Amino acid sequence: MLDTRNGQGQFTLYEVRGNVAWVRMNRPQYANTQNYRMLDELDGWFRKAVEDDEVRVIVLAGEGKHFSSGHDLGTPDCDNDMERERKGLWDNHLSKDKGGAERQYTIEQDVYLGLCRRWQDIPKPTIAMVQGACIAGGLMLAFSCDLVVASDDAFFQDPVLAFGVPGVEYMPHMFEIPTRIAREFLYLGQKMKAPRAYEVGMINRAVPRDQLEAEVGAMAERLAAIPPFGFKLAKQAMNMIDDGRGKRTVNDGIFAMHHLAHAHSQLTTGNLAGGLDPKKVKAG
Ligand code: ZN
Repeated sequence: MLDTRNGQGQFTLYEVRGNVAWVRMNRPQYANTQNYRMLDELDGWFRKAVEDDEVRVIVLAGEGKHFSSGHDLGTPDCDNDMERERKGLWDNHLSKDKGGAERQYTIEQDVYLGLCRRWQDIPKPTIAMVQGACIAGGLMLAFSCDLVVASDDAFFQDPVLAFGVPGVEYMPHMFEIPTRIAREFLYLGQKMKAPRAYEVGMINRAVPRDQLEAEVGAMAERLAAIPPFGFKLAKQAMNMIDDGRGKRTVNDGIFAMHHLAHAHSQLTTGNLAGGLDPKKVKAG
């Protein structure tokens, strides 16, 4: 019999096993690059998981070789020019009166910064299960989760300085990585392999690839045993501490600079991400 607790979107998969919901990005042919529809589908599954009392833990994963290589900059299903249902109370970025910097600012508030903040506040434990590449927008998803478990062949990378922007839209790097390492990570834009990410405290576990899902499953089972209300309060407390340290406020500033950089690139190169082929790049 079909289990109605499971589901499939155009770009995602959803499966409940026991008390754990497994939400998977499903664009392996494009290394799970994120178009808007994929992110909207993820949000729908998170909503379903939050409202299902039997779901105690949520795992975010990616099908195929890679977790996610970031935002969709030009695959055939890139949907930057497609109208979408807004998740927050932001207006339609495609409406005719939006020119200049307003269009990109509007869409990224809702789909990038907005969704990551919303997912960070999910009142259940969330685990990012990372294999292969976790790049730029992929980091945003991993950093939105409570815990990150990676295979030891995974790598993390934020190369966006090469695109002329100061960082990704949701950028808690200095809250996730020790300062000296965070600076090197961002400035040099090089790959950080999972064992190094574990060593510096950026992720919780680095395990052999063939043990990744079992490790995450075992961790999820332990989290599922925690009384939900106590966990909910603990998570809010952790988020309050981050915000008390300035996480939300500084990200608002970084987001504004990110859009100054988008606008600068549009003025000087005609595309949003300076230095890249404008035919290939519609959004950064
Ligand atoms: Zn952007």
